[in-house]
Amino acid sequence: MKKLVSLVMVIAMFMTFTLSTSLAAGQTATGEIKDKDGKALGTVNLTQTNDSTVRLEVKYNNLPPGTHGIHFHAVGKCEGPDFASAAGHFNPTSHKHGLDNPDGGHAGDLPNLVVPAGGSGTFTATSQQISLMDGPNKLIGQNGAALVIHANADDQKTDPAGNSGARIACAVLSAAPANLPASGLGGASSSSNNLFWILPACLGIFLAAGLGGLVIARRNLR
Ligand code: ZN
Repeated sequence: MKKLVSLVMVIAMFMTFTLSTSLAAGQTATGEIKDKDGKALGTVNLTQTNDSTVRLEVKYNNLPPGTHGIHFHAVGKCEGPDFASAAGHFNPTSHKHGLDNPDGGHAGDLPNLVVPAGGSGTFTATSQQISLMDGPNKLIGQNGAALVIHANADDQKTDPAGNSGARIACAVLSAAPANLPASGLGGASSSSNNLFWILPACLGIFLAAGLGGLVIARRNLR
């Protein structure tokens, strides 16, 4: 009988873990890609898939076919025609540029974007160097953040931008409202906001599991 109760407790703990993980994840950010004249070229979607991974999806059209450097930049400002306003690559760890650089790379570095003939498609990548949650590698901080597409391929080793040439498109990234301070909770951060829900949820699961275990135990005693 004790075995059964233990089993129920293990299941409850597993459910609690799964629940807290899924609540910590799921934060999102979006952006609209524009060219130097402000013409829309597509959308950017970021999702925190777990505590350490962010998934990037870029749906684009009317980009020049070929290989292009694409990076997260440190300032959320896209002013044409050169997009210098977006500043350098997001680099909270003070590394050199490039995924293949022994001293690299920047947290904002990504694999090249390969645009097919026709100029439209979907680019996806995952990064464990950036986060949408609070912490040292939080991408969208006080200065915001941008995703910038360059004219040429990124060689992934030449500092500071892999010889990827001019910046041809730019998207200001904005965190979804869930990632903003919740005014209703006295400016509580998103993490304590999550905690606010996790604690009662855990308690509920433990209570339910405990009661379930007791009922089963009593039935078996009869
Ligand atoms: Zn870089």
